[in-house]
Amino acid sequence: MALMSGTDVAREITEQTTKRASEFEQRTGRKPCLAAVLVGEDPASVTYVKMKRNRSAKAGIESRFVHLPEQTTTEQLVAEITKLSEDPGVDGILLQHPVPKHIDERAAFEAIAPSKDVDGVTMHSFAAMAFSEPGFASATPGGIMRLLEAYEVDLKGKHAVVVGRSPILGKPVAMLMLAKDATVTICHSKTENLDQIVRTADIVVAAVGKPKFITAIKPGAVVIDAGYNEGNVGDVDFEQLADSASLITPVPGGVGPMTIALLLEQTVSAATRRADLVDVSEVVG
Ligand code: NAP
Repeated sequence: MALMSGTDVAREITEQTTKRASEFEQRTGRKPCLAAVLVGEDPASVTYVKMKRNRSAKAGIESRFVHLPEQTTTEQLVAEITKLSEDPGVDGILLQHPVPKHIDERAAFEAIAPSKDVDGVTMHSFAAMAFSEPGFASATPGGIMRLLEAYEVDLKGKHAVVVGRSPILGKPVAMLMLAKDATVTICHSKTENLDQIVRTADIVVAAVGKPKFITAIKPGAVVIDAGYNEGNVGDVDFEQLADSASLITPVPGGVGPMTIALLLEQTVSAATRRADLVDVSEVVG
């Protein structure tokens, strides 16, 4: 067994991002700007947003914080996000998931301008991912793909089993793996014989939201644990699988740091693209 260190790979990506952010600032006279929107006080979400803002600052990215009360309506949230979408000083927008249950999260995500969708949550970004067209990858799935690439895991012809089909994780990671020529099976709560299917996988992605859910694999499989449950516990039973996996991500220090690295990288890319568009329009004008 060997560990796939998201911490190490994320550090390398973020070093590059920091350089690009500094070049952007020298060129335009301002830092790239990421706006983080948080609704309510869910402790885990508060911590995630704080972590993302700290990392942004360290990478030379300005962060704006819009903290809205728990009782915010869908209309109010959509209005706030629309303002950020139209604000020329904002390059990227992150709406921390999940929002309170009474809010229509899809409507809120769709208020993010595709050019600022650095967390890759809009239908536009999903379609771009599914069609292998340019666009922003969903941050966690994009991070998983970069981690596999860093550890030279070739997906071509391999059987990848993704457990979970959420719009921000399971579905997009399945699309990205398909684009790399894996044969992909997506499992969910209604899947029959899930354990047997997982045992046929060359690569397993656990994105379930249930602690230590995956307990058996094919010997030599690559295991990506995207789960994060209370007490730093993943969706994979690490102790049980560590010996039989050829490569495995730890929790913490696996997928989590990669998600933030992708978010920051994509923020700088969004800023650069937008600045270049402004430059072009100035020339044309
Ligand atoms: P989610 O929206 O709750 O989706 C969970 C998925 O798992 C659903 O598709 C659900 O199936 C499936 N599922 C639930 N119980 C199952 C069961 N008993 N058997 C088979 N499938 C089952 O969760 P998510 O947002 O995708 O997050 C998944 C995990 O990743 C969580 O632990 C979360 O904390 C973590 N996460 C980590 C990061 C990071 O940066 N590291 C980012 C995002 C999420 P149905 O569709 O049939 O209901």
